[in-house]
Amino acid sequence: MGFTKESIDSAGLFSAVKTKLGADALSLVTKAYEVAYKAHDGQKRLSGEPYIVHPLNVAYILTDLGLDEKVISAGLLHDVVEDTSYTKEDMIRDFGEEIANLVEGVTKISQIKSQSKETVAAENIRKMLVATIRDIRVILIKLADKTHNMRTLKFQSPEKKERIASETLSLYAPMAGRLGIYKIKFELEDLALQVLHPEEYQEIKKQVSSKKSERDGYIEKIKIILKQRLSEINIQAQIEGRAKHFYSIYRKMKLKEKTFNEIFDLRAVRIIADEIRDCYGVLGIVHTLWTPIPGRFKDYIATPKTNLYQSLHTTVIGPDGKPMEVQIRTQEMNKTAEYGIAAHWAYKEGKSNGTSDGNLTPKWIERLKSWEDSDLDPKEFLEDLASDLHEDEVFVFTPKGDIIELPKGSTILDYAFRIHTDVGLQAKGAKISGRMVPLRTELKSGDQIEIIADKKNKPSPIWLRIVKTSSARQKLRQYFRKIQDEAAIEIASSPDPVAPQISSKELELLRKNRSEKKKDKNKKVTVVVAGIKDIMVRLSGCCAPLPGDDIIGFITRGRGVSVHKSTCETAKKQTDLMRMVPVRWDGVNEPIPVRIEVKASDRQGIYLEMVECISKTETNILEAGATSSQNGTITAKFLIEVEHLDQLQEILDSLKALNNIIYAERVRTN
Ligand code: MN
Repeated sequence: MGFTKESIDSAGLFSAVKTKLGADALSLVTKAYEVAYKAHDGQKRLSGEPYIVHPLNVAYILTDLGLDEKVISAGLLHDVVEDTSYTKEDMIRDFGEEIANLVEGVTKISQIKSQSKETVAAENIRKMLVATIRDIRVILIKLADKTHNMRTLKFQSPEKKERIASETLSLYAPMAGRLGIYKIKFELEDLALQVLHPEEYQEIKKQVSSKKSERDGYIEKIKIILKQRLSEINIQAQIEGRAKHFYSIYRKMKLKEKTFNEIFDLRAVRIIADEIRDCYGVLGIVHTLWTPIPGRFKDYIATPKTNLYQSLHTTVIGPDGKPMEVQIRTQEMNKTAEYGIAAHWAYKEGKSNGTSDGNLTPKWIERLKSWEDSDLDPKEFLEDLASDLHEDEVFVFTPKGDIIELPKGSTILDYAFRIHTDVGLQAKGAKISGRMVPLRTELKSGDQIEIIADKKNKPSPIWLRIVKTSSARQKLRQYFRKIQDEAAIEIASSPDPVAPQISSKELELLRKNRSEKKKDKNKKVTVVVAGIKDIMVRLSGCCAPLPGDDIIGFITRGRGVSVHKSTCETAKKQTDLMRMVPVRWDGVNEPIPVRIEVKASDRQGIYLEMVECISKTETNILEAGATSSQNGTITAKFLIEVEHLDQLQEILDSLKALNNIIYAERVRTN
C-alpha cells in the first residue's frame, strides 16, 4: 500500500486497514468511524469540508505507520471527547478503557494551551511527554494529528499558520525524529518550511527539479558499475538515488553557509541488500571502486542509534570526482528508518501499557519513564529534553513563551537579531530569569530571554566577534556598510574648508609613503582620512587613540597624518589648524595594545579575579603584573589587545564591579 498525502475517504481507510491488518480488524474500525461520524455531524473544518475528514486522515496515517486497529480507532475518535457531547464514559462503555485512555491522552495534550503564557511552552512539552510515558501510542496519534493539520494549514490565518509551523519545527518534528519516524519528521519539516520561509522553499524546489535529470543519469551510471561488481560475488542489491528532503537542504545551507550548488553537487545513493552480511560485502565493493573519504565511515548496524536507526554510512569520491554519500542497509532497516518505533510497535492482547519488548525500546523512552514520578522543574526538564532532541541546537524562550531555535554556541546578541534586526541593533543587554546578563552570554536551552533595547544604542564593531550565527553577522555587516557609506557621502558632500588643504601632490606622497612602510605597526588599523582609505596614518603616542575614540587628524610633514584623541592636550596645543583633516575609524580593526591600571584594597584572590574579568571577554593579555603596597593596596597593570573602545569599556566596567576596587582606568601606552 502506498502512502498518499491526498485526502482519503472512509472506503479508502477501510481498504487500507483490510490490506494491512486483515478483515478481522475492520469491525472495530468501522464502529469507531460510525461513532465519530455521528458525533462530528454538522461540524466543519476551516476548509469547508465535513469535520470527519480530519479524523479519517489521522486514522489513515496511523494505518500507514503499521499500527493496530485500536490505535487506528483511537485516531478516528481523537477529537470526539473534546469537541462533541460524547463523553469519556460513553467511550469506555462503547470501546473499553484502553481506547478511551488513548483518546484522553491526546485530548490532554491539546488542552494545555490555556495555561499562563509565561510557562506554557515548557509546561506544554512536559505534560505532553508525561502523557506519553503512560502510553507512547498517544504521541503517535498526536503526530498523525499534527501531520494532517499541517497538510491543511493553508486555511488558517497567517499568524496562526506561523505559530503552528514553528511549534511543529521546534517540537513535533524533532520528536518524530527521536522516535525514528523519519517519514513524518521529513514531511512535517517540509510543510513547516513552506510556511515559514516560502521563498527559500520555492527556490529549493525549483533547484531540485532542475537537477533531476542530471541526478538520474548519474545514478544510472552508478547502478551499472555496482550491479556488475556485485553479481560477481553473488550479492543481490537494490540501488537507488536518494533525494534529500527540502528542509535538510535548507538547514545545510543555513548552518554550513553553503550555496545551492555545493549542496546539489553532493551525490547520495542508497543500497538495499538482502542480508546484514551482504551490507558489509557491498561496503567492501564500494570502497574498492571509489576512494573513501577518511573519517566518514559510520557503522550504525553494529551500534544502532537510540531511535533504532541502523545503516552503514560512508562517503567516497564518486566516478565524477565529487563526493558521494552512500547508505547501505537491509530492507528491514530501511523500513525502520522510515517508520521508526512504529515499525516495531507490537501490541499484544492484555498488554495495554504500550511497553514494547525490551531492547527495542529507545533509551529516551526509558528516560521519560524515570521522569514520570519526579517533580522536575519544567525548565530543568526542558533543558534535559532539549539537549536530547537537538544535539547541535539550543532552544530558548521569548518572554511570551515562544520557542526560538539557534545553533549551539549562539549568544544573547544572536537571539536579539533573530527576534528582529532592530532589536539586535538596539540591544544593550538582556535579562535571563530577571537577572541582567551581557550580550556575549552564551545561550542555554530553556533560558527565557528578555532583551533590553535602547533606541539610542549603536552597534559596536566588536559585536562581529560576539555573534555566532551567519544571519546576525550579515545584518551587522549590512549596518556597518550603510553607516560607512553615509559617512563617506557626508564628507564628500560637505563643503569642508579643511580637506582641500591636502594637495594632490601631498596626497600622492602620503600614499607612497604608506606603501613603503608596509611593516608599520599601525597598518593594522584603518583610519579614513577625508574620505580616503589608503592614507598613511600614525596613531600618536601621547594619547594612544583606540578605535571608537573621538579622533582628529593633523597632516605632518613627511610622516603622514597623525591621529589624536579629540581630547588630547598635545593636539589642542596644535596651532596650525589648517593642517587639520577629518578622520574616522574604518569598521573593525585588528586589536591594538592598550595599557590599563587597576588599584584595589588588597584581599585574597583579587588579582586572579581581575585577570578573569579580562580574559572572559576573549581579550588577549600581553603583559600583566601587580605590586602590593604597605598601606594594603594592590596596583595591577595590564597590557591588553583591544579592538574597539567598547571592548575596553566592557573590561573596565566589569573590573570596577569587583569588590574593593579603587579605580580601573586606561593609562598611556608608552
Ligand atoms: Mn485533531
